[in-house]
Amino acid sequence: MSFSKFVSLVLIFHLLTPALVFSSSLSSSNGLSGIPKKFLDFAKRKEFVDWIVGVRRKIHENPELGYEEFETSKLIRSELDKLGIPYKYPVSVTGVVGFVGTGGPPFVALRADMDALPIQEEGDWEHRSKIPGKMHACGHDAHVSMTLGAAKILKEHVQEINGTVVLVFQPAEEGGGGAKKMVDEGVLDNVDAIFGLHVTHEDAIGTVASKSGPIFAGSGFFTAVISGRGGHAALPQHSIDPILAASNIIVSLQHLVSREADPFDSQVVTVGKFQGGSAFNVIPDSATIGGTFRAFLKTSLIQLKQRIEEVIKGQAAVLRCNATIDFHDKPVPLFPPTVNDNDLHEHFLEVAGDMLGNDKVKDLKPLMGSEDFAFYQEAIPGYIYLIGMQDESSPKLGAVHTPQFTINEDVLPYGAALQASLATTHLLKAELKPRSTEGHTHDEL
Ligand SMILES: [Zn+2]
Ligand SMILES: [Zn+2]
Repeated sequence: MSFSKFVSLVLIFHLLTPALVFSSSLSSSNGLSGIPKKFLDFAKRKEFVDWIVGVRRKIHENPELGYEEFETSKLIRSELDKLGIPYKYPVSVTGVVGFVGTGGPPFVALRADMDALPIQEEGDWEHRSKIPGKMHACGHDAHVSMTLGAAKILKEHVQEINGTVVLVFQPAEEGGGGAKKMVDEGVLDNVDAIFGLHVTHEDAIGTVASKSGPIFAGSGFFTAVISGRGGHAALPQHSIDPILAASNIIVSLQHLVSREADPFDSQVVTVGKFQGGSAFNVIPDSATIGGTFRAFLKTSLIQLKQRIEEVIKGQAAVLRCNATIDFHDKPVPLFPPTVNDNDLHEHFLEVAGDMLGNDKVKDLKPLMGSEDFAFYQEAIPGYIYLIGMQDESSPKLGAVHTPQFTINEDVLPYGAALQASLATTHLLKAELKPRSTEGHTHDEL
């Protein structure tokens, strides 16, 4: 190709670029672009806002830990009853699975996690946690109410739903692997895609952030008991010191990432727990350490697990100690990395862009935190995004997993409308696509 031809092709490409970007929006692809804004307008109506805020406050007042979400689950069922939405219960102890739409295929799912954390809420407000030592400090009260909000929007526009939206209210996201249990119970059988969201204080209200591919790390946990032989601190030659062995182990564990991992393959090993001894002048019989490891590749996670075991046992042996290790992987195995599907990312960009404006849809840097949403993504294509809560004119909201965590309730209509829009337009797009018969042999869940 001559240079001039190349230049003219480049020019043509650049001239076409705005049109290409525009053509990626729902408006030009199939006339669905009005749906996200219409749903947001619906969700911003006063009666809707009053209702969704009320639901969230009720859940916030009564936080329940993983697999104990009985009252939360009851509240969800009573709201679904009021909306006339059928559901399955119980699923995975406290889980609820609702269905809005035709009752037939295609199926698309929305996920909400229901559990709270063992944290004492700080600050005094009318609807603070009424349960001492427990708090919705990760925003799952908001996620449940937004998903109920999506259900209300969907029910109100049920004639526009070409298929069925499956509402997945799961227990035990915070380390209990509730999502894994839900998948094992067949909640996603015949479901084409699942969408999840998480509130964040890092981004402004009215904005969302996500990415295609790995977004949150996979994780594992370990506890190791290092056993030696206790004795008088002044006579170490008669003892086998587990404190020193545990110390060497902790230092050696830090070499796994710094010396063995590819620097471009982000990984973390943290020992967050070290217990042993109770007196200045006594060498104890044993010491206990515990920690977590993170990676974005499942192979790296498995490699870390294997090396953590080898290092703990090997370093314990160097100092004549024994070590037993528990990886806390039963019944829930390692948490896999959370990996967003690329086609669903494109869908999200269109829908969120149509609702909020393209400049409000941000690219998210991957985070080393993990999410049990990953278990859904191991089963079917899935997509999770962060939804901003920070009002720029207000003081900075408290961070997740702290006693100061706060929800800006203005986020609730946004989450409800966006989830409802993602599901509805996904189903409508499925109608426009030629359907393959493969994997769709059943007509019901
Ligand atoms: Zn959390
Ligand atoms: Zn959370």
